[in-house]
Amino acid sequence: MIEALKSKSLRFWITLSMALSILPLAVSAGVGYVVLDVCVIAPFHDVAQRQRDQVARAQHIRLMIWDSLIPFDEFASNGGVFDNEAYNRLREQIETDFSSLMMAVADDPATPKRVRTAWERWRASSSMVDTFLVAPDRLSRQEEAALVRSFHVSTVEAIQNLRAIGDNLTQVIEGDYREATLCYRWVEWFAIAAGVMSLLAIAASVRIIGHTISNSVDRLVAGATRFAGGDRDHRIEVEIPSELRRVAVEFNKMIERVHISEEALADLAYRDSLTNLANRRVLIEDFAELDLRSGRSERAACLLAIDIDRFKAINDCHGHSVGDAVLRALAKTMTASLGPADEVYRTGGDEFVVLLRGADLKAAAATAERLRLAVASTPVTADGAVIHPTISIGVSPVLGDLKTTMDEADAALYRDKADGRNRIGGN
Ligand code: GH3
Ligand code: MG
Repeated sequence: MIEALKSKSLRFWITLSMALSILPLAVSAGVGYVVLDVCVIAPFHDVAQRQRDQVARAQHIRLMIWDSLIPFDEFASNGGVFDNEAYNRLREQIETDFSSLMMAVADDPATPKRVRTAWERWRASSSMVDTFLVAPDRLSRQEEAALVRSFHVSTVEAIQNLRAIGDNLTQVIEGDYREATLCYRWVEWFAIAAGVMSLLAIAASVRIIGHTISNSVDRLVAGATRFAGGDRDHRIEVEIPSELRRVAVEFNKMIERVHISEEALADLAYRDSLTNLANRRVLIEDFAELDLRSGRSERAACLLAIDIDRFKAINDCHGHSVGDAVLRALAKTMTASLGPADEVYRTGGDEFVVLLRGADLKAAAATAERLRLAVASTPVTADGAVIHPTISIGVSPVLGDLKTTMDEADAALYRDKADGRNRIGGN
């Protein structure tokens, strides 16, 4: 029971350790995915987007403003033809890009205001171009020069504002980029730590499983050794792995079968199969024990040598199977007529011996007479025949050894036979 409980709890711990060995990997995969997505991928994506929508756009507007400044500057200083169409296209593009930039920085607390300022500067310089182009004849040379200077100042301010905005946005974006990179490093360390933990947990699991298997193999070997040493009561308890459990179960079944076979063999060796009485081998062993005990305590014991009268005739008249039935019936009758301490042995064809422990000659004679009467008064019915068997009994006290005692009892038995059978005799 305790072994079974141990095995069950061991199985629980093995399952747990295997689950725990996979847990760090699973956690690192799950948490790593979330952390990577939230702290690394999203920020990198955001940085790239802001780089494109904010910094690159501000720079692009700046370059377009430069582009718009050069043709007007040349026209204002050298005269000639001003490509108004190209200028208007550029202006539209700058307007569109300013509006996109405003949207891109809308979430920022300070930048929209700065973009608006740059935009206004640009618009101011742009309106100066209009003023210059629409009514060039109405302006004096000084007014023209002042307008061009104001145009330069306003345009350069817009360009400087945009550069400052770009620099500022770049700083913020670089800060976010550094944070995302740091987070990426943390995720890397986390994944390495989870991998190492998993490896350690897997190593521990393998060790536990290895230990369990070697423990189970040890139990099998110990069980086989005990079996070889004659221990038939030991059963091998192996729960895991299931393959070895099956081996243990089959081994236990084999022990069970061997045990049953051995008992059957022992029965054959010690019991008479026809009457189920103890045989001569048991008599020898019991007599040896009796000898010892009586030697110590000097208590009396007697032996009865019993032989069925004219048994051959029963066989000859009624057949061997009826003879067998008579043998079985007599065995039962005699056993039933004896006390618990006394035992009947079948020592030969129609020969029996009774060992009367603690009986003196007088008590033994009385028991013998009781047996004789019981047999004589119990007819045996077999195969339609009714047999009235009788027995003759030689009584002897237990002497030094079994042979001497048997000789003495047999001598008395022969005298009974000679005197006409169905009688008891002894000294
Ligand atoms: P006695 O009164 O002088 O003993 O005469 P008996 O005919 O009984 O002579 P004996 O004891 O010598 O005969 C024993 C017979 O028992 C011989 C044998 O055929 C028979 N016998 C021995 N074993 C068995 C057995 O297992 N079954 C049967 N049916 N008969 C057996
Ligand atoms: Mg006989």
